[in-house]
Amino acid sequence: MSSEVVERFLRYVKIHTTSQEGVDEIPSTKRQFDLAYVLAKELQELGINDAFVDEHCYVKGTLPSNLPQDQASKIPVICLLAHMDTSPEEPGENINPQIVKNYSGEDIILSGNPKLVISPKETPALMKFIGSDIITTDGTTLLGGDDKAGIASIMTVLSNITKDSNIKHGRIKIIFTPDEEVGHGVDALDVKSLDADVGYTLDGDEMGVLETETFNAAGGLITVKGFNFHPGYAKNKLVNSVKIIGEIISEFPNQEAPETTEKRQGYYHVYEVKGGVNESTLKFILRDFDEGELDFKIQFIKHIVEKYQKIYPKSTILLDLKKQYKNMKSILDQYPHIAQHAEEAIKRSGIELIRKEVRGGTDGARLSFMGLPTPNIFAGAMNFHSKKEFVPVIAMEKSIETLLNLIQIYVENFG
Ligand SMILES: [Zn+2]
Repeated sequence: MSSEVVERFLRYVKIHTTSQEGVDEIPSTKRQFDLAYVLAKELQELGINDAFVDEHCYVKGTLPSNLPQDQASKIPVICLLAHMDTSPEEPGENINPQIVKNYSGEDIILSGNPKLVISPKETPALMKFIGSDIITTDGTTLLGGDDKAGIASIMTVLSNITKDSNIKHGRIKIIFTPDEEVGHGVDALDVKSLDADVGYTLDGDEMGVLETETFNAAGGLITVKGFNFHPGYAKNKLVNSVKIIGEIISEFPNQEAPETTEKRQGYYHVYEVKGGVNESTLKFILRDFDEGELDFKIQFIKHIVEKYQKIYPKSTILLDLKKQYKNMKSILDQYPHIAQHAEEAIKRSGIELIRKEVRGGTDGARLSFMGLPTPNIFAGAMNFHSKKEFVPVIAMEKSIETLLNLIQIYVENFG
Protein backbone atom coordinates (compact mmCIF):
# COMPACT_ATOMS: atom_id res chain seq x y z
CA MET A 1 0.00 0.00 0.00
CA SER A 2 2.78 2.34 0.99
CA SER A 3 4.86 1.82 -2.13
CA GLU A 4 1.81 2.14 -4.37
CA VAL A 5 0.64 5.47 -2.98
CA VAL A 6 4.18 6.87 -3.10
CA GLU A 7 4.69 5.65 -6.66
CA ARG A 8 1.40 7.23 -7.73
CA PHE A 9 2.09 10.47 -5.91
CA LEU A 10 5.57 10.92 -7.40
CA ARG A 11 4.16 10.28 -10.87
CA TYR A 12 1.23 12.71 -10.52
CA VAL A 13 3.27 15.62 -9.10
CA LYS A 14 5.58 15.50 -12.12
CA ILE A 15 2.67 16.40 -14.40
CA HIS A 16 2.47 20.19 -14.62
CA THR A 17 -1.09 21.32 -13.74
CA THR A 18 -0.79 24.91 -12.50
CA SER A 19 -4.09 26.77 -12.94
CA GLN A 20 -4.36 30.46 -13.80
CA GLU A 21 -6.27 33.40 -12.31
CA GLY A 22 -8.51 35.60 -14.42
CA VAL A 23 -9.33 33.14 -17.22
CA ASP A 24 -13.00 32.87 -18.22
CA GLU A 25 -12.75 29.26 -19.35
CA ILE A 26 -12.74 26.01 -17.41
CA PRO A 27 -10.14 24.62 -17.26
CA SER A 28 -8.12 27.83 -16.96
CA THR A 29 -5.07 26.02 -18.38
CA LYS A 30 -5.16 23.22 -20.97
CA ARG A 31 -2.22 21.48 -19.28
CA GLN A 32 -4.60 20.16 -16.61
CA PHE A 33 -5.93 17.74 -19.24
CA ASP A 34 -2.53 15.98 -19.19
CA LEU A 35 -3.18 14.66 -15.69
CA ALA A 36 -6.92 14.18 -16.32
CA TYR A 37 -6.29 11.74 -19.20
CA VAL A 38 -3.74 9.78 -17.16
CA LEU A 39 -6.23 9.42 -14.30
CA ALA A 40 -9.15 8.42 -16.52
CA LYS A 41 -7.00 5.74 -18.16
CA GLU A 42 -5.83 4.41 -14.79
CA LEU A 43 -9.42 4.33 -13.50
CA GLN A 44 -10.38 2.24 -16.52
CA GLU A 45 -7.48 -0.10 -15.89
CA LEU A 46 -8.88 -0.59 -12.39
CA GLY A 47 -12.14 -1.70 -13.95
CA ILE A 48 -14.01 1.58 -13.56
CA ASN A 49 -15.30 1.31 -17.09
CA ASP A 50 -17.32 4.51 -17.30
CA ALA A 51 -14.36 6.75 -16.38
CA PHE A 52 -13.93 9.66 -18.76
CA VAL A 53 -12.75 13.28 -19.01
CA ASP A 54 -15.43 15.81 -19.93
CA GLU A 55 -14.91 18.98 -21.97
CA HIS A 56 -14.24 21.03 -18.82
CA CYS A 57 -11.52 18.64 -17.63
CA TYR A 58 -13.53 16.91 -14.91
CA VAL A 59 -12.54 13.25 -14.50
CA LYS A 60 -15.62 11.24 -13.57
CA GLY A 61 -16.10 7.59 -12.77
CA THR A 62 -18.36 5.19 -10.87
CA LEU A 63 -17.42 2.09 -8.94
CA PRO A 64 -20.57 -0.05 -8.70
CA SER A 65 -21.36 -1.70 -5.37
CA ASN A 66 -20.26 -5.30 -4.89
CA LEU A 67 -23.16 -6.01 -2.51
CA PRO A 68 -26.50 -7.61 -3.45
CA GLN A 69 -28.84 -5.09 -5.07
CA ASP A 70 -31.31 -4.81 -2.16
CA GLN A 71 -28.50 -4.14 0.29
CA ALA A 72 -26.57 -1.81 -2.03
CA SER A 73 -29.62 0.36 -2.69
CA LYS A 74 -29.83 1.27 1.02
CA ILE A 75 -26.27 2.58 1.25
CA PRO A 76 -25.76 6.28 0.47
CA VAL A 77 -23.69 6.89 -2.66
CA ILE A 78 -20.38 8.43 -1.59
CA CYS A 79 -18.58 10.81 -3.93
CA LEU A 80 -14.81 11.16 -3.37
CA LEU A 81 -13.26 14.34 -4.72
CA ALA A 82 -9.80 15.84 -5.12
CA HIS A 83 -8.44 18.62 -7.32
CA MET A 84 -5.83 18.24 -10.04
CA ASP A 85 -4.55 21.81 -10.34
CA THR A 86 -1.80 23.39 -8.25
CA SER A 87 -1.65 26.97 -7.01
CA PRO A 88 -0.44 29.66 -9.43
CA GLU A 89 1.28 31.36 -6.47
CA GLU A 90 4.40 29.17 -6.82
CA PRO A 91 6.02 27.38 -9.77
CA GLY A 92 4.54 23.94 -10.43
CA GLU A 93 6.64 22.75 -13.34
CA ASN A 94 9.68 20.43 -13.28
CA ILE A 95 8.89 19.29 -9.77
CA ASN A 96 11.80 17.31 -8.38
CA PRO A 97 10.61 15.59 -5.19
CA GLN A 98 13.14 14.56 -2.55
CA ILE A 99 12.55 11.72 -0.10
CA VAL A 100 13.90 12.14 3.41
CA LYS A 101 14.14 8.56 4.69
CA ASN A 102 13.28 7.83 8.31
CA TYR A 103 12.96 11.46 9.43
CA SER A 104 15.11 12.22 12.49
CA GLY A 105 13.50 15.41 13.82
CA GLU A 106 16.22 17.70 12.42
CA ASP A 107 15.74 20.65 10.07
CA ILE A 108 15.25 19.54 6.46
CA ILE A 109 17.46 21.51 4.06
CA LEU A 110 16.11 21.69 0.52
CA SER A 111 18.89 20.72 -1.87
CA GLY A 112 18.10 23.10 -4.73
CA ASN A 113 17.80 26.11 -2.44
CA PRO A 114 19.85 25.60 0.76
CA LYS A 115 18.46 28.83 2.25
CA LEU A 116 15.08 27.17 2.50
CA VAL A 117 14.70 24.95 5.52
CA ILE A 118 11.67 23.02 6.70
CA SER A 119 12.04 23.24 10.43
CA PRO A 120 10.07 21.86 13.39
CA LYS A 121 10.47 25.34 14.91
CA GLU A 122 8.30 26.78 12.15
CA THR A 123 6.15 23.65 11.63
CA PRO A 124 5.90 21.92 15.03
CA ALA A 125 3.70 19.14 13.59
CA LEU A 126 6.81 17.77 11.86
CA MET A 127 7.80 16.19 15.17
CA LYS A 128 4.83 13.83 14.87
CA PHE A 129 6.49 12.28 11.83
CA ILE A 130 9.81 11.23 13.27
CA GLY A 131 10.57 7.82 11.81
CA SER A 132 8.39 8.30 8.72
CA ASP A 133 9.70 9.00 5.24
CA ILE A 134 8.92 12.58 4.22
CA ILE A 135 8.57 13.81 0.65
CA THR A 136 9.65 17.43 0.03
CA THR A 137 10.44 19.60 -2.97
CA ASP A 138 14.00 20.51 -3.95
CA GLY A 139 13.19 24.09 -2.89
CA THR A 140 12.60 25.51 -6.38
CA THR A 141 8.88 24.70 -6.78
CA LEU A 142 5.86 23.77 -4.72
CA LEU A 143 5.30 20.02 -4.29
CA GLY A 144 1.70 19.67 -5.40
CA GLY A 145 0.73 17.57 -2.39
CA ASP A 146 -2.20 19.98 -2.42
CA ASP A 147 -3.99 18.08 -3.80
CA LYS A 148 -2.18 15.26 -5.56
CA ALA A 149 -1.78 13.55 -2.19
CA GLY A 150 -5.59 13.40 -2.21
CA ILE A 151 -5.66 12.02 -5.74
CA ALA A 152 -2.98 9.40 -4.97
CA SER A 153 -4.90 8.38 -1.87
CA ILE A 154 -8.24 7.98 -3.68
CA MET A 155 -6.60 6.06 -6.55
CA THR A 156 -4.83 3.71 -4.13
CA VAL A 157 -8.07 3.10 -2.24
CA LEU A 158 -9.83 2.20 -5.49
CA SER A 159 -6.96 -0.06 -6.46
CA ASN A 160 -7.24 -1.83 -3.09
CA ILE A 161 -11.00 -2.23 -3.34
CA THR A 162 -11.07 -3.47 -6.90
CA LYS A 163 -8.38 -6.08 -6.18
CA ASP A 164 -9.92 -7.42 -2.98
CA SER A 165 -13.48 -8.74 -3.22
CA ASN A 166 -13.58 -9.06 0.57
CA ILE A 167 -13.86 -5.28 0.88
CA LYS A 168 -17.61 -4.70 0.63
CA HIS A 169 -18.79 -1.27 -0.42
CA GLY A 170 -21.73 0.72 -1.71
CA ARG A 171 -21.68 2.67 -4.97
CA ILE A 172 -18.77 5.11 -5.08
CA LYS A 173 -18.44 8.12 -7.36
CA ILE A 174 -15.06 9.62 -8.17
CA ILE A 175 -14.55 13.20 -9.34
CA PHE A 176 -11.22 14.89 -9.98
CA THR A 177 -11.69 18.60 -10.56
CA PRO A 178 -9.67 21.35 -12.29
CA ASP A 179 -9.24 24.97 -11.14
CA GLU A 180 -9.88 24.65 -7.40
CA GLU A 181 -6.99 26.99 -6.63
CA VAL A 182 -8.50 29.79 -8.70
CA GLY A 183 -11.93 29.38 -7.11
CA HIS A 184 -13.73 27.72 -10.02
CA GLY A 185 -13.37 24.04 -9.11
CA VAL A 186 -17.07 23.22 -9.20
CA ASP A 187 -18.39 25.92 -11.55
CA ALA A 188 -18.97 23.54 -14.44
CA LEU A 189 -20.00 20.52 -12.40
CA ASP A 190 -23.58 19.32 -12.69
CA VAL A 191 -24.17 18.10 -9.14
CA LYS A 192 -27.62 16.64 -9.81
CA SER A 193 -26.35 14.39 -12.58
CA LEU A 194 -23.74 13.00 -10.17
CA ASP A 195 -26.47 11.09 -8.40
CA ALA A 196 -24.48 10.99 -5.13
CA ASP A 197 -25.79 11.45 -1.59
CA VAL A 198 -22.70 12.65 0.22
CA GLY A 199 -19.30 13.99 -0.81
CA TYR A 200 -15.90 14.02 0.84
CA THR A 201 -13.10 16.19 -0.52
CA LEU A 202 -9.61 14.85 0.22
CA ASP A 203 -8.07 18.30 0.40
CA GLY A 204 -7.28 18.87 4.07
CA ASP A 205 -3.71 19.18 5.25
CA GLU A 206 -2.34 17.64 8.45
CA MET A 207 -2.91 13.95 9.24
CA GLY A 208 -6.15 13.61 11.23
CA VAL A 209 -7.86 16.80 10.05
CA LEU A 210 -11.61 16.98 9.46
CA GLU A 211 -13.12 20.29 8.35
CA THR A 212 -16.82 21.05 8.38
CA GLU A 213 -16.74 24.84 8.57
CA THR A 214 -15.68 27.57 6.19
CA PHE A 215 -15.91 31.33 6.33
CA ASN A 216 -18.91 33.29 5.18
CA ALA A 217 -17.47 35.62 2.59
CA ALA A 218 -18.18 38.94 0.90
CA GLY A 219 -16.00 41.21 -1.16
CA GLY A 220 -16.11 44.28 -3.27
CA LEU A 221 -14.80 47.46 -4.74
CA ILE A 222 -14.99 51.06 -3.55
CA THR A 223 -14.56 53.65 -6.32
CA VAL A 224 -13.89 57.30 -5.42
CA LYS A 225 -14.23 59.87 -8.19
CA GLY A 226 -12.35 63.12 -7.67
CA PHE A 227 -11.74 66.17 -9.80
CA ASN A 228 -8.32 67.13 -11.17
CA PHE A 229 -7.01 70.68 -11.46
CA HIS A 230 -3.61 72.34 -11.98
CA PRO A 231 -2.22 72.05 -8.45
CA GLY A 232 -0.91 75.62 -8.52
CA TYR A 233 -4.43 77.02 -8.99
CA ALA A 234 -6.47 74.30 -7.32
CA LYS A 235 -7.70 75.99 -4.18
CA ASN A 236 -11.33 75.00 -3.48
CA LYS A 237 -11.46 73.25 -6.87
CA LEU A 238 -9.38 70.09 -6.79
CA VAL A 239 -10.91 66.96 -5.24
CA ASN A 240 -8.19 64.37 -4.61
CA SER A 241 -9.59 60.83 -4.69
CA VAL A 242 -6.20 59.41 -3.60
CA LYS A 243 -6.46 61.14 -0.23
CA ILE A 244 -10.10 60.18 0.25
CA ILE A 245 -9.24 56.53 -0.42
CA GLY A 246 -6.45 56.86 2.17
CA GLU A 247 -8.91 58.08 4.78
CA ILE A 248 -11.32 55.26 3.96
CA ILE A 249 -8.53 52.68 4.39
CA SER A 250 -7.70 54.13 7.78
CA GLU A 251 -11.25 53.17 8.89
CA PHE A 252 -10.61 49.44 8.31
CA PRO A 253 -10.06 48.01 11.82
CA ASN A 254 -6.41 47.04 12.39
CA GLN A 255 -7.37 44.51 15.04
CA GLU A 256 -9.61 42.69 12.57
CA ALA A 257 -7.18 42.16 9.69
CA PRO A 258 -5.76 38.89 8.32
CA GLU A 259 -2.41 39.69 9.94
CA THR A 260 -3.98 40.17 13.39
CA THR A 261 -6.55 37.35 13.50
CA GLU A 262 -6.58 33.55 13.66
CA LYS A 263 -8.75 30.53 14.41
CA ARG A 264 -12.41 31.58 14.66
CA GLN A 265 -11.88 35.33 14.27
CA GLY A 266 -13.14 37.07 11.15
CA TYR A 267 -11.49 39.98 9.35
CA TYR A 268 -11.63 42.96 6.99
CA HIS A 269 -8.90 42.90 4.33
CA VAL A 270 -7.86 45.66 1.88
CA TYR A 271 -5.79 43.95 -0.80
CA GLU A 272 -5.50 46.31 -3.75
CA VAL A 273 -5.46 50.07 -4.24
CA LYS A 274 -5.12 51.83 -7.61
CA GLY A 275 -5.63 55.35 -8.73
CA GLY A 276 -4.81 58.99 -9.36
CA VAL A 277 -6.45 62.31 -8.45
CA ASN A 278 -9.44 61.75 -10.75
CA GLU A 279 -10.33 58.27 -9.67
CA SER A 280 -9.09 55.72 -7.14
CA THR A 281 -10.31 52.23 -6.36
CA LEU A 282 -9.93 49.94 -3.40
CA LYS A 283 -10.58 46.19 -3.38
CA PHE A 284 -11.46 44.44 -0.14
CA ILE A 285 -12.80 41.19 1.26
CA LEU A 286 -14.77 40.45 4.43
CA ARG A 287 -14.71 37.09 6.21
CA ASP A 288 -16.51 35.66 9.23
CA PHE A 289 -17.62 32.23 10.46
CA ASP A 290 -20.82 33.77 11.78
CA GLU A 291 -23.26 35.01 9.16
CA GLY A 292 -24.65 37.74 11.41
CA GLU A 293 -21.15 39.03 12.05
CA LEU A 294 -20.47 39.10 8.32
CA ASP A 295 -23.63 41.16 7.83
CA PHE A 296 -22.37 43.52 10.51
CA LYS A 297 -19.10 43.94 8.59
CA ILE A 298 -21.05 44.65 5.41
CA GLN A 299 -23.08 47.35 7.19
CA PHE A 300 -19.86 48.84 8.57
CA ILE A 301 -18.46 49.24 5.03
CA LYS A 302 -21.72 50.79 3.81
CA HIS A 303 -21.60 53.19 6.72
CA ILE A 304 -18.02 54.29 5.90
CA VAL A 305 -18.95 54.95 2.30
CA GLU A 306 -21.92 57.09 3.35
CA LYS A 307 -19.80 58.95 5.89
CA TYR A 308 -17.13 59.98 3.37
CA GLN A 309 -19.73 60.85 0.75
CA LYS A 310 -21.11 63.37 3.27
CA ILE A 311 -17.66 64.72 4.14
CA TYR A 312 -16.72 65.08 0.44
CA PRO A 313 -19.92 66.05 -1.40
CA LYS A 314 -17.95 67.08 -4.52
CA SER A 315 -16.65 63.56 -5.00
CA THR A 316 -18.69 60.50 -5.94
CA ILE A 317 -18.12 57.39 -3.89
CA LEU A 318 -19.48 54.10 -5.22
CA LEU A 319 -19.70 50.75 -3.49
CA ASP A 320 -19.99 47.43 -5.30
CA LEU A 321 -20.29 44.69 -2.69
CA LYS A 322 -21.27 41.03 -3.16
CA LYS A 323 -21.60 37.98 -0.95
CA GLN A 324 -19.20 35.32 -2.26
CA TYR A 325 -19.72 32.05 -0.39
CA LYS A 326 -21.27 30.74 2.82
CA ASN A 327 -20.18 28.62 5.75
CA MET A 328 -21.06 25.02 4.90
CA LYS A 329 -21.75 24.28 8.57
CA SER A 330 -25.39 25.29 8.19
CA ILE A 331 -25.84 22.51 5.60
CA LEU A 332 -23.69 19.86 7.29
CA ASP A 333 -25.49 20.39 10.61
CA GLN A 334 -28.63 19.06 8.91
CA TYR A 335 -26.87 15.71 8.29
CA PRO A 336 -24.78 15.14 11.42
CA HIS A 337 -23.93 11.54 10.47
CA ILE A 338 -21.76 12.76 7.57
CA ALA A 339 -19.17 14.33 9.87
CA GLN A 340 -19.66 11.66 12.56
CA HIS A 341 -18.79 8.87 10.13
CA ALA A 342 -15.67 10.74 9.05
CA GLU A 343 -14.65 11.25 12.69
CA GLU A 344 -15.13 7.57 13.38
CA ALA A 345 -13.13 6.64 10.26
CA ILE A 346 -10.21 8.83 11.36
CA LYS A 347 -10.26 7.45 14.90
CA ARG A 348 -10.33 3.85 13.66
CA SER A 349 -7.11 4.60 11.80
CA GLY A 350 -5.47 5.01 15.18
CA ILE A 351 -4.65 8.70 14.80
CA GLU A 352 -5.66 11.85 16.61
CA LEU A 353 -8.75 13.58 15.23
CA ILE A 354 -8.11 17.27 14.54
CA ARG A 355 -11.31 19.29 14.09
CA LYS A 356 -10.66 22.69 12.60
CA GLU A 357 -12.29 25.31 10.48
CA VAL A 358 -11.15 26.36 7.00
CA ARG A 359 -10.08 30.02 7.05
CA GLY A 360 -11.12 30.25 3.43
CA GLY A 361 -13.54 28.56 1.08
CA THR A 362 -13.48 25.04 -0.27
CA ASP A 363 -15.07 23.27 -3.18
CA GLY A 364 -16.87 21.26 -0.52
CA ALA A 365 -18.60 24.38 0.77
CA ARG A 366 -19.89 25.24 -2.67
CA LEU A 367 -20.94 21.63 -3.30
CA SER A 368 -22.79 21.58 0.02
CA PHE A 369 -24.92 24.51 -1.10
CA MET A 370 -25.38 22.92 -4.54
CA GLY A 371 -27.03 19.90 -2.89
CA LEU A 372 -24.10 17.58 -2.10
CA PRO A 373 -23.10 17.92 1.58
CA THR A 374 -19.29 17.66 1.48
CA PRO A 375 -16.88 18.03 4.41
CA ASN A 376 -13.12 18.01 3.89
CA ILE A 377 -10.78 15.24 5.08
CA PHE A 378 -6.98 15.40 5.33
CA ALA A 379 -4.79 14.09 2.54
CA GLY A 380 -1.63 14.60 4.61
CA ALA A 381 0.42 17.28 2.82
CA MET A 382 1.38 20.45 4.72
CA ASN A 383 2.66 23.99 4.02
CA PHE A 384 0.36 24.38 1.02
CA HIS A 385 1.23 26.84 -1.77
CA SER A 386 4.85 26.99 -0.68
CA LYS A 387 8.27 25.73 -1.69
CA LYS A 388 8.32 24.29 1.85
CA GLU A 389 5.40 21.99 1.10
CA PHE A 390 5.91 18.39 2.21
CA VAL A 391 4.01 15.17 2.81
CA PRO A 392 4.87 12.43 5.31
CA VAL A 393 4.33 9.01 3.76
CA ILE A 394 2.57 7.80 6.91
CA ALA A 395 0.00 10.60 6.51
CA MET A 396 -0.88 9.36 3.01
CA GLU A 397 -1.14 5.81 4.34
CA LYS A 398 -3.46 6.97 7.13
CA SER A 399 -5.56 8.86 4.62
CA ILE A 400 -6.03 5.61 2.67
CA GLU A 401 -6.88 3.74 5.86
CA THR A 402 -9.36 6.46 6.81
CA LEU A 403 -11.16 6.23 3.46
CA LEU A 404 -11.34 2.45 3.64
CA ASN A 405 -12.79 2.75 7.16
CA LEU A 406 -15.29 5.35 5.99
CA ILE A 407 -16.53 3.14 3.17
CA GLN A 408 -16.85 0.29 5.68
CA ILE A 409 -18.74 2.46 8.20
CA TYR A 410 -21.36 3.33 5.57
CA VAL A 411 -21.90 -0.37 4.88
CA GLU A 412 -22.20 -1.11 8.63
CA ASN A 413 -24.69 1.70 9.22
CA PHE A 414 -26.90 1.41 6.19
CA GLY A 415 -26.33 -1.96 4.48
ZN1 LIG B 1 -6.24 22.11 -2.22
